[in-house]
Amino acid sequence: MTSTDNTTTPSETAQTENGHLLDALDPQLNRWLQDRGLPGYRGKQIRQWLFQQRAANWDAMSDLPQKLRRALAADLPLWQSRILRHIRAADGTEKLLLALSRGGQIECVLLRDRVRRTICISTQVGCGMGCVFCASGLDGVERNLSSGEIVEQMLRLQQLLETEERLSHVVVMGMGELLANLEALLPALAEAHRADGLGISTRRITISTVGLPAAIDRLAGSQPHYRLALSLHAPNDALRRQLVPAGQPLQTLLAAADRYFAVSGRRMTFEYVLLADINDQPDHARQLAHLLGRREALLNVIPYNPVAGLPYRTPSTARQQTFQRILTAAGLRVQFRHRKGSRINAACGQLRRAAGGRYRLSSN
Ligand code: SF4
Repeated sequence: MTSTDNTTTPSETAQTENGHLLDALDPQLNRWLQDRGLPGYRGKQIRQWLFQQRAANWDAMSDLPQKLRRALAADLPLWQSRILRHIRAADGTEKLLLALSRGGQIECVLLRDRVRRTICISTQVGCGMGCVFCASGLDGVERNLSSGEIVEQMLRLQQLLETEERLSHVVVMGMGELLANLEALLPALAEAHRADGLGISTRRITISTVGLPAAIDRLAGSQPHYRLALSLHAPNDALRRQLVPAGQPLQTLLAAADRYFAVSGRRMTFEYVLLADINDQPDHARQLAHLLGRREALLNVIPYNPVAGLPYRTPSTARQQTFQRILTAAGLRVQFRHRKGSRINAACGQLRRAAGGRYRLSSN
């Protein structure tokens, strides 16, 4: 495992008067070019440099005239974050801790699994859902990220790839409850799947939520293309209220999820973090099987990855096996997912917390 602190201080990091250039790349670039009487094709060239050629700064865009690159660098900062830490694990996982110009710190992760190159991104600084086992929710939510701040994470992670590697999947599973920030997330995800963006199929974009039923319905009515993963974490409402204090009743959530999947046609995915002696008993598995009933779903069970300062533990292997056996016998498709990069605090919010004492930029 290698770690780098304060690895970059790009000269092109700042906040523009009008927000982030990546909030609305095409209109902002086109206006800037038009105001100077410059041809519109330059905008397409710049987009290609950013999304396909992984340029890290204006100067790298070598087929733009040098005078133009200098003017762009002076007027339009590309980035609004600074890399505070960059950690690489032996399994190929890389994690960035970013300090944002508008305040706050966020994390994003690149995961390597055979030919898959998956990026995991954040949507908020902190999180308001308060899941008791999660480092991101410990201090509440500070603010929503802008579309540009979300796109910036994708581009920065893509820049970590070797030339021959290609991004294949996006998971919105980092810090924050993404359904509380749909307005910024949807334009950012459009950049992920546009052919002249990152070019990732919507089938390979997963958004993971603990669930806000009204927002699930809004999503179903506008952008039902993405895979939705609903995090349950408990098989009954009493336990769920303890684990996800801001969560909604399970039946309300499942009804909203059913409506989404009826429109999207995408396979249902449910997530369940398995906590030793809390929600890992055989009876919990039986209740969970009953709750999910005959849905054509995939259930991802994630044995807990301990967080420093929190009292929760990983269940024993025997307990995990019993849990899995009961669910499988009930006819559910179950997958036990062990977190990659656990040596580098890969679960959301852990790195920010670990670094908090040294790098805290905000009140969080
Ligand atoms: S697990 Fe997700 S929804 Fe829950 S507090 Fe953490 S970031 Fe928020």
